[in-house]
Amino acid sequence: MKVDTLVLGAGIVGTSVALNLKLRGQTVVLVDRRGPGEETSYGNAGLVERASIYPVAFPRDLKALMEVALGRNPAANYHWDALPGLVPWMYAYWKASAPERILAYARTMETLLRHSLDEHARLAALSGAESYFREGGWLKLYRTPQGLDHERLEFPLARQYGLSMRELSVDEALALEPDLRPDFTGAVIWSDPHSVSSPGGVTAAYARHFAALGGEIRIGDARGLVRLGSGWAMSTAGGLVEARQVVVALGPWADDVLRPFGVRLPLAVKRGYHMHYRSEGGAKLSRPVLDEEGGYVITPMELGIRLTTGVEFARRDARKTPVQLERTEAIARKLFPLGARVEAEPWMGCRPALPDMLPAIGPATGPGGEKLNGLWLAIGHQHLGFTLGPITGRLLAEMMSGETPTVDPAPFAPARFG
Ligand SMILES: Cc1cc2nc3c(=O)[nH]c(=O)nc-3n(C[C@H](O)[C@H](O)[C@H](O)COP(=O)(O)OP(=O)(O)OC[C@H]3O[C@@H](n4cnc5c(N)ncnc54)[C@H](O)[C@@H]3O)c2cc1C
Repeated sequence: MKVDTLVLGAGIVGTSVALNLKLRGQTVVLVDRRGPGEETSYGNAGLVERASIYPVAFPRDLKALMEVALGRNPAANYHWDALPGLVPWMYAYWKASAPERILAYARTMETLLRHSLDEHARLAALSGAESYFREGGWLKLYRTPQGLDHERLEFPLARQYGLSMRELSVDEALALEPDLRPDFTGAVIWSDPHSVSSPGGVTAAYARHFAALGGEIRIGDARGLVRLGSGWAMSTAGGLVEARQVVVALGPWADDVLRPFGVRLPLAVKRGYHMHYRSEGGAKLSRPVLDEEGGYVITPMELGIRLTTGVEFARRDARKTPVQLERTEAIARKLFPLGARVEAEPWMGCRPALPDMLPAIGPATGPGGEKLNGLWLAIGHQHLGFTLGPITGRLLAEMMSGETPTVDPAPFAPARFG
């Protein structure tokens, strides 16, 4: 089979790329070794984080760093044996977390974030997935004045971008979420973000619409990608597919396919866990709630209340060590009447992370900096991949089709890594 484009990886990013290309009339095959939206895009906290213009930065003060090192910060964990290999990446991440660079990051990321709600809404309307989405924003809770003060630093720039946030007293927060217990001292409601009751369900719905438009979804191992003449080819369960162009949207697995072609990006992973819980006594949440110093988010999902953890630095394929889940579950039970666990095993996923915290969207470059004909990348969306999948799909489809891009792609160019 010969097509215009092969898209590798059917997470939210690859699925959104495939659908945007299909909407432009291309012939497209979307390949994954599993069904669409069954990996990282399944297990996240379900936030379309329109308001998250500031990154999850590397701690710059010694006290915060020591708390992580000593295992006293429930939001973070690490594997000792992964650290030596991570040193160059961590150093670059630390440098990118300097205050002046964070401001530059925020201004750059906002150019994508401002389209996040509209692009999800567009794909959701086309795919009949609107019922997964809810408004109501994102409630952040604080246990110390320092925590709240830190959050307040984000307000001025956020206001410049027209984002809405409001500080709430404990009683005001409880009026919004009556089943929370007052195990916090301050709160902020960010009104712009939306959230979903099943991020995997949303991704699968976008993929179904892609198929309904004539796109092909195939099972296959992307590591079998080869160059064929001036194009690309790989075998799938449905036979050989040849394409003029290929998009690598393999999230945390992108390196497995890129390295053999000499494309080297400093990709690491920030692992995270989730577990669903029943609610006791019919308790309800109507929006995601972040317990900032508790180090977790709870989100109402189709399967129950989903508790998602912060970051674990470890090798992508190392065994699961869900210590953060154990720690944060105990804290969360004091905040919300969580009942029994729904699953026997915690879910684990890997946020695909580049050290400057920006995704890589655009043409790939080879070992000497040369363009690799027809090889495009959409990877490294870190904490914001569910939010940014649809706008990434649009931006890349515009670039691949020679249209004027909606967003300046220059800061996201994979070539920035040399
Ligand atoms: C705990 C947690 C909470 C999060 N919360 C949020 C949130 O609230 N909001 C937000 O915006 N983001 C959130 N994120 C981040 C977000 O989930 C990711 O950035 C996003 O899902 C990445 O999407 P992706 O399409 O790049 O990767 P994936 O969804 O992982 O897709 C990659 C696909 O590639 C496939 N694949 C891999 N190897 C091969 C191969 N060899 N052959 C074929 N196919 C292959 C996989 O099966 C997979 O389907 C969270 C992440 C975690 C871990």
